[in-house]
Amino acid sequence: MGHPDKALLIELMDFPRQKILQGMELAYCPHAGFFNPVDEQCIYCHQGMECVWMNHNDKLVALEQKDYQALKQQLLIALDYIDSSLTPHHLSRRNCECDNCVWMRKVSKVLALETV
Ligand SMILES: [Zn+2]
Repeated sequence: MGHPDKALLIELMDFPRQKILQGMELAYCPHAGFFNPVDEQCIYCHQGMECVWMNHNDKLVALEQKDYQALKQQLLIALDYIDSSLTPHHLSRRNCECDNCVWMRKVSKVLALETV
């Protein structure tokens, strides 16, 4: 099959889900974080990317139903998000033991299994 278990990817979604939720300013959202694709406020919202991600990957969404490629795609978006939220302090992240860096190494390792 050549790719890791979907359950592993779903498990890895937990960390960015918490991070993105913490980073979102839901106090300013008239929809309490529920993305509405036909609402102009949602389309032009500065939190658009985080919000769309959350609404695709919330615990309420049946992630098991998604195929591997879809899960991988969402995980890569989350990887970018976490990566760009890090300060330059983390640039030597090979040695960094913070939860962000540990998670990013885990994801890279899991996704790298695909080519084996
Ligand atoms: Zn770090």
